[in-house]
Amino acid sequence: MPTRILLHACCGPCSLEPVRLLREEDFDPVIYYANSNIHPADEYAHRLETLREWAEGEEVPVIEGTYDADAWEATAGRVGDAAFERFGMVHGPDPHAAEDETAAHAPSIPADSEAAAAREARCRACYRLRFEEAARYAREHGYDTLGTTLSVSPYQYTQVIREELERAAAAEGLTAHFEDYRPFYDEATRRSREGGMYRQNYCGCRFSDAEAEAEREERKAARRAAREAEATDHAEERAAAEAERARHRAEKQAYADKQAKKRAILKAMREKRDGGTDDQ
Ligand code: SF4
Repeated sequence: MPTRILLHACCGPCSLEPVRLLREEDFDPVIYYANSNIHPADEYAHRLETLREWAEGEEVPVIEGTYDADAWEATAGRVGDAAFERFGMVHGPDPHAAEDETAAHAPSIPADSEAAAAREARCRACYRLRFEEAARYAREHGYDTLGTTLSVSPYQYTQVIREELERAAAAEGLTAHFEDYRPFYDEATRRSREGGMYRQNYCGCRFSDAEAEAEREERKAARRAAREAEATDHAEERAAAEAERARHRAEKQAYADKQAKKRAILKAMREKRDGGTDDQ
């Protein structure tokens, strides 16, 4: 008999692999969509609709939690505003920063800096709000086990997700089933693209929307700078090639002038010689 698990899910694409794996592990997942972090409300509805469309085909029940943007603002939003006031915009975990998984931030912001800690505190508060709601629902509806899909994304704080899931589950007398799903991120990306699913380009909250926009602008500026540097390199190459061609042309001209001069001398000598013969 499969074990029932209430699976907190953030969206459709992130649910694909956890549901597949949980079923393989003989769990019977029921999805709980508790995401008051998502801003604006239209985006929240769009992600939920995408999730539902896919889940229906998979016969996975989806339960919608309470969308309470005010509760999110009063917790994670407040933490995020305080961090922003102090440090400005700080980017989150960077999966490409290093092989070492503790180096979860862009190189310009050391993982142990106060700015990085403040950024992480915002996400911790966000996970906490959502997991506490999911855990409460799980206890009230007879589940023993609580899981989450959030650990699919390499752009999240995996260890913090684990801590908060375990904390929320313990507070309601549940077992936390945590799995690090990051190795399945590429597969989830491939499957969701192939299935034509809506794939959001920011985590969810207003801060992450602005951060993602800034990151896109930074990437665009870096690409533009690379193109300009390449164009400068090519301009130098073109100038060197043109100088080489001019040198060849000058050499050729000098040779032609020399030959013409030689021919003129020979002609003059011939004429002088022929004229001399006539005089005798
Ligand atoms: S970036 Fe994501 S996890 Fe962090 S606070 Fe925003 S919505 Fe929550």
